[in-house]
Amino acid sequence: MQVKAPRGTADILPGNTAKWQKIERIIKEHLESFAYQEVRTPVFEHTELFQHGVGQGTDIVSKEMYTFNDRSKRSLTLRPEGTASCARAIIEHSIYGGVLPVKWYYTGPMFRYDRPQAGRYRQFHQVGVEAFGSNSPYLDAETIILMVEILSALGLTAYELHLNSVGCPVCRQSYRQSLIEHISPVKDSLCPDCQLRFQQNPLRVLDCKVAACHEAIVGYPVIHDSLCVECREHYAIVRTALTDSNVDYIHDDQLVRGLDYYTNTAFEIHIPGIGAQSAVGGGGRYNGLVQALGGPYLPGIGFALGMERLLLALDTLGLGESEAPGVDVFIALMNDRFETQALKILNKIRKAGIRADKDYTGRSGKAQMKYADRLGAKLVILIGDEEIEQGFYTLRNMQTKEQLQLDNEQLVDSIKQIMAN
Ligand code: AMP
Repeated sequence: MQVKAPRGTADILPGNTAKWQKIERIIKEHLESFAYQEVRTPVFEHTELFQHGVGQGTDIVSKEMYTFNDRSKRSLTLRPEGTASCARAIIEHSIYGGVLPVKWYYTGPMFRYDRPQAGRYRQFHQVGVEAFGSNSPYLDAETIILMVEILSALGLTAYELHLNSVGCPVCRQSYRQSLIEHISPVKDSLCPDCQLRFQQNPLRVLDCKVAACHEAIVGYPVIHDSLCVECREHYAIVRTALTDSNVDYIHDDQLVRGLDYYTNTAFEIHIPGIGAQSAVGGGGRYNGLVQALGGPYLPGIGFALGMERLLLALDTLGLGESEAPGVDVFIALMNDRFETQALKILNKIRKAGIRADKDYTGRSGKAQMKYADRLGAKLVILIGDEEIEQGFYTLRNMQTKEQLQLDNEQLVDSIKQIMAN
């Protein structure tokens, strides 16, 4: 048996979970202050949801899904992203018939079979938001503002926000035509994947990461020039709203999402200097998605942030200090006859919301004091013969070394008072 986690997965050990929890807390506070509510969807779905909801022509669907048959021979897939599941839930529970927009957020593991490297895993974690039921460009701006506010709150201010508009199916039709005319003469020099993409959806050639493909199509027409009046106006409003909110962005003609249900605003945030996988998050509008999955027309916009990438950025930039885990109070026993007494005190002070612990390995009195220090205890309650005989507790302040004698009634209040100072 191999005692090793599968390639591309990682344990998040307690030394690191404190960092995760801190980031998650900051993110959650922001999501809730922007009126988002948490949704929890299954970790696996019917494979066809992703085939339709992410798109047959994408790398995710064609190469990266963890797909398996269950015992009833149903094809299921570990979710590679969160948007399709949200759209499915919106349709399944007829949420579109209620108060709009619906603002949901999710957090959890995603699964993609890709080549692991720093910042790229097969199981990774995303926090994502989806707002369904409004096509307002101000909602696009708000969504982007939320994403950059989260980064700023984490201390990640050195980001680059890339922004583009991929138009609507109408303007994309004429763009597609001009792209076909541009790429046709050089199509044989494209990589095998792109040759296929060119047949299926030429916009996806622009997404290719192979440098030779970029060279072959250099000077290609940009989608911005093909935008229809409405899409041009939508994009202009998003840009102005961002500028008015002091959000810097880079208009990026190369940022395209080739699938039909992606519409208008597309964005991606990079943090330069964290390695090849510098995108910490991305998102956009997907007005055609709910309909493509069999629901009504319901515009939507969202983004997803990669948790591992955020942590990588914080660590690389030296911002990754975690909060010291540990306890406020440690109970030190001078004799194991006092175990029952110690348990009673622990129960009492923990109920009062005080973080507390004791030794369970038979350490000597001196070793218990050392252990209390390691746990970061500010106070130690000493229980020895004298204390038990005379019915009081000795409370030792580990910083000032001061000791107080307290009775049972005074204990919790005194601890709280000292902790507050
Ligand atoms: P996407 O769903 O591809 O738009 O990705 C959104 C974000 O998720 C990216 O910007 C990354 O931060 C993160 N992400 C995507 N794929 C991976 C992966 N394989 N490993 C770690 N993070 C990822």
